[in-house]
Order: sequence, then C-alpha cells, then structure tokens
Amino acid sequence: MILGAHVSISGGIHNAPKRANSINAQTFQIFTHNQIQWKPKNISDEEIKKFFSELEKYKYTDNKLPVIHSSYLINLCSDNIETQKKSFESLKYQFEIAEKIKLKYIILHPGSSKGKNEKEALDTIAIQIIKILSHLHNNNVMLLLENTAGQGNNLGYKFEHLKHIIEIVEKEFPDRIGICFDTCHAFSAGYDLKNEYKKVFDELFSLIELKYLKVFHLNDSKHICGARKDRHERIGKGTLGISVFEKLVNDKRFKDIHGILEVPGGMQAYKEDLEILYKLIK
Ligand code: MN
Ligand code: MN
Ligand code: ZN
Repeated sequence: MILGAHVSISGGIHNAPKRANSINAQTFQIFTHNQIQWKPKNISDEEIKKFFSELEKYKYTDNKLPVIHSSYLINLCSDNIETQKKSFESLKYQFEIAEKIKLKYIILHPGSSKGKNEKEALDTIAIQIIKILSHLHNNNVMLLLENTAGQGNNLGYKFEHLKHIIEIVEKEFPDRIGICFDTCHAFSAGYDLKNEYKKVFDELFSLIELKYLKVFHLNDSKHICGARKDRHERIGKGTLGISVFEKLVNDKRFKDIHGILEVPGGMQAYKEDLEILYKLIK
C-alpha cells in the first residue's frame, strides 16, 4: 500500500506537499477548497505552478500523486432543487479543478436519501454523475464513491449501493468511476473486518471487482461493528484494532493502492500513526 494522510491546504494548495513530506507520507489527500463552502475561490495559475514544482520536489508524482476529497455539502440526490443544482455545479467544478491540477481521483460520499426510496435516490445520483461527465470536455478524472457508516440517511453503507451507481454510470462512461474503501465506515456499517477480514473482501470483490478500488481510508473506529456511527479513531486505539491494519498493509492485492489516514489528532497523530503502519509492513 502507498501510505499517506489527509493534509491541510491552508495558505494554498502549494503548501500541501511540504506538509505531507513533514509527516513522512508517501502520498496524501487534499480538499481543493474549503470543504464546507459551495463557491470556491479560483486557484491562481501561480499557485498551481508552485503546486506542481512542490509535488516534484517532494516526489509526489506518478503513482504517489495525491487524491482529492470533494465537498461534504454535495448531495446529488437532494429533493431540494436548489441543493441539487448547487451539488451539480460544485462537483462539476471539482472535476475541472482536478483536471487543471492534473490529479486523477475525486472521492465523493454518495449522498443522503432523506428517507426517500433508496433505489430511486441511487438512480438519481447515477444520473447526475452522468450529466456532469457529459458536460465536461477534455477531462479524464475518475470519481471514487466512498462507502459510508450509514449514519442518518447516508447512502453507501452497503457495497450494493456503490455497485448500483457504478453499473449505471459505466454504461455511459467506462473508466470514470471507482471506489474508495473507508475501514471505519465499513466496520461501523456492519462489515466485520476485525473478525471476518477475508469474508468482507470476498463479498466486496464478488460485487465490485478489485480494479475499481483505488483508495483506502485507513481509520480505526470509536464505535462497535454495526453501530452506523461515523467516528474515526487513531490506528490500533479503536474497536477495529491493529491486526486489521497489519493485514491491509501486507495484502498483496492492495500493493499499489493509496492508504490515506483520516484519524483525529492532527499532524502529530498522522506522523505517529504512519510510523505504526510502516512498522507493520513485513
Ligand atoms: Mn470521506
Ligand atoms: Mn473517509
Ligand atoms: Zn468518516
């Protein structure tokens, strides 16, 4: 696995590579703008140029390129027309930025059904993604659907949800949709990675082939399996425990996949937890 963490873009995206390097990350994840704002400010050409040179400087190139996490506000299946419109624009814009800064992957939480029929909501999400992709020109960015803990009405807590969206989108746009697997979310959603590691991945790959999996979010959990609560914990300090992460970092299937930390505690915590993960590699 290629290990890293989510790092801040405070002061501009060009500051992120240096921060990632300071915690010994092999790769990293960023927001391209304030994740709780609809209308991001434009990233200047100057900033982008600096970002590229910093990526080079700290060797975050090729298979170590960072990934983007999209805004938490986006809900493509909202029944509020205004929110749906803003979500569409926001995600479309996210694709454009990603292409401009030459990054390959955008991670998205599928959305919230607000109690609506889940299948209809998943259909709506897929249709909106297709609509966005058809509005883009010269864009090769891939959207990665993240599995969720299933807190509230959040979709994506079953692998079938992700499969449902993928199947619809890839009919129109093959190679533009994949998944991001969050360990805390999966466990909290009821997938017992701790006691049934093999079974969970057998189930995942029977539905969604390995080639769709591009990123892991490596997080321990504060809650028990099936609690459907999205609360991350430091690696080895939560209900998942260290053994799951030892299996993951040594799993040959995941050799070329990004493993991104989103644990609480800031940069010092990232640095320490990355150190823990590196030591687990046999
Ligand atoms: Mn996420
Ligand atoms: Mn995550
Ligand atoms: Zn989470």
